[in-house]
Amino acid sequence: MTEPTIFTRILDGKIPAEILGETDRVFALRDIAPQAPVHLLVVPKTAEYRDVVEVAEGDPALLAEMIAFAGELAKAHTEDGEFRLVFNTGANAGQTIFHVHAHVLAGGLNEKSVSA
Ligand code: 5GP
Repeated sequence: MTEPTIFTRILDGKIPAEILGETDRVFALRDIAPQAPVHLLVVPKTAEYRDVVEVAEGDPALLAEMIAFAGELAKAHTEDGEFRLVFNTGANAGQTIFHVHAHVLAGGLNEKSVSA
């Protein structure tokens, strides 16, 4: 059996985190190492999909739900509701957790936030 991902351990309450909201299928939390004034993560509860390409192919409705939830979070956590959505895809692109997640970045964005 494969090891549970960090996000599964957070969801199971085994690693502490501030959960900002959830639906039946996704949840959101603050990134532990923020790269922008607002840096949130939107994560499916299932660890079935490693990255955005897999979830797009395997469950497009789940990907759409992640994006809609990112929009709701941005409305709640920014003044203008505007944000950048980043999916690091593959280790060479900076992905470190292979359980698909969207970075929601907002507020005072600069070039550095591109590498979040
Ligand atoms: P990736 O590099 O895979 O695109 O993104 C993983 C993100 O998860 C990183 O931005 C990292 O800071 C964040 N992260 C890693 N471990 C934890 C943790 O235990 N709690 C929280 N809230 N974020 C984490």
